[in-house]
Amino acid sequence: MTSFNHKLFQKSAYIDGVWCDASDGKTFDVVNPSNGIVLAKVADCTIEDAFKAVHAAQTAYPVWRDTPAKDRSKILRCWYDLIVENADELATLLSCEQGKPLSEAKGEVLYGASFVEWFSEEAKRAYGEIIPTPVRGRELFAFKEPIGVTAAITPWNFPVAMITRKVAPALAVGCTSIVKPAAETPLSALALAMLAAEAGIPKGVFNIIPTNRAQEVGQVLTTHPVIRKVSFTGSTEVGRIIMRQSADTIKKLSLELGGNAPFIVFDDADLDNAVIGAIASKYRNSGQTCICANRFYVQAGIYDKFAEKLGVAVAGLKVGDAFEKGVDQGPLITVEAIEKVEELVEDALSKGAKVSIGGKRHALGGTFYQPTILTNVSRDARLLKEEIFGPVAPLIKFETEQEAIDLANESEYGLAAYFYSRDLGRVFRVARRLETGMIGVNEGLIASAEVPFGGVKQSGLGREGSRHGIEDYLEIKYVCVGGLSKP
Ligand code: ADP
Repeated sequence: MTSFNHKLFQKSAYIDGVWCDASDGKTFDVVNPSNGIVLAKVADCTIEDAFKAVHAAQTAYPVWRDTPAKDRSKILRCWYDLIVENADELATLLSCEQGKPLSEAKGEVLYGASFVEWFSEEAKRAYGEIIPTPVRGRELFAFKEPIGVTAAITPWNFPVAMITRKVAPALAVGCTSIVKPAAETPLSALALAMLAAEAGIPKGVFNIIPTNRAQEVGQVLTTHPVIRKVSFTGSTEVGRIIMRQSADTIKKLSLELGGNAPFIVFDDADLDNAVIGAIASKYRNSGQTCICANRFYVQAGIYDKFAEKLGVAVAGLKVGDAFEKGVDQGPLITVEAIEKVEELVEDALSKGAKVSIGGKRHALGGTFYQPTILTNVSRDARLLKEEIFGPVAPLIKFETEQEAIDLANESEYGLAAYFYSRDLGRVFRVARRLETGMIGVNEGLIASAEVPFGGVKQSGLGREGSRHGIEDYLEIKYVCVGGLSKP
């Protein structure tokens, strides 16, 4: 698919309920990573546009804040219904700009929609507290109030879900929002805004400023005193910049940063189930998710058997364009992305790793990479420390439970971990010891709107989704009413 003409295709910025060009009229190209074809020339928002969006969100805030929760809930529910109604069109757009297979794109759209549904429900339950007083003649309250104007900076790997996961809780509690989507994938963001407008989200409440000038616009979003919270998903490196820049105005931060997920297979695991989980966790989105299995630790007794079974499953993965039938794996997002994967594989090979399957660019050319398994990977290989963000599974042998735990925790990251075991004692021992925010036990896919998503260590701050996701957009206001005991 090279061009399309459906109603959700929008190339302008969305500020204060108006579709507009960048203040200097500039645009940037959005490219289909499958074939390099330019899909759209999108408004390249400037610093001035960012200020305009902040002003719009600030102006819209008091009315939205004071709108009854039930009304906000209804509008969000309507947005959810529209996203689901338009799921096929949104998925097409998503696959075009991101490259993931159409079925996966549809899955992401519905996953993204589920956050809007969930937080439309949670909107009505942002309860405060009445606190028993320690002193006579007082009534004590903790009100929960929206934090104010918020900004979201989102990545290209989940162009729909990373936006709804941040914007839905913000809007649910009465905050307003400015979104800067990744320059690679702004079309899905703009399509979401079209549906938000149709759902009745008032002007200024939800603004989208696509831009290829991430640093300049990011600077405004992280330093403007009106913005009270920034939610960012992306690399740890940029997360540090955002945190530093946000320090001067003491903004609240939610950071969902890099991961380096260990995937541990113990001798007592159900190997077929482990292979299913490994494929889902490693090769989904061509390995470009922050909770992707990055390192496979396999116990010595089943190492060869697991490698063989995984090899058979990986050999069956079909690589190709998102719109081809039966495709399991699309291209990587950019040339830089594939070069990074090549560099990491070369480093591992130079340190003694063996290619079991794949190991190089795919015959399709462009940014397609072969689904790959490396065995005999040395413990000092870079790909055990850095995020691969590509379809490469390094397999490392271990002997004891303690060794697996130590190896898994040997990382500055702490986002997700997976392990496979049927020993109940081991399940709880290992789950307790792994230093990550999320753990899949005998499961390779664990994310959903109902659960708290987030990391520990240098993988970030805060939780998205679940009942906790809404708290990140609320402030506590303590109110002490005194003088009540006097007649
Ligand atoms: P990835 O490696 O997944 O592309 P990045 O951290 O580079 O992750 O990008 C995630 C998001 O952060 C994107 O929207 C990108 O445009 C934005 N971004 C990159 N650099 C900055 C910056 N200096 N300030 C603010 N946002 C930035």
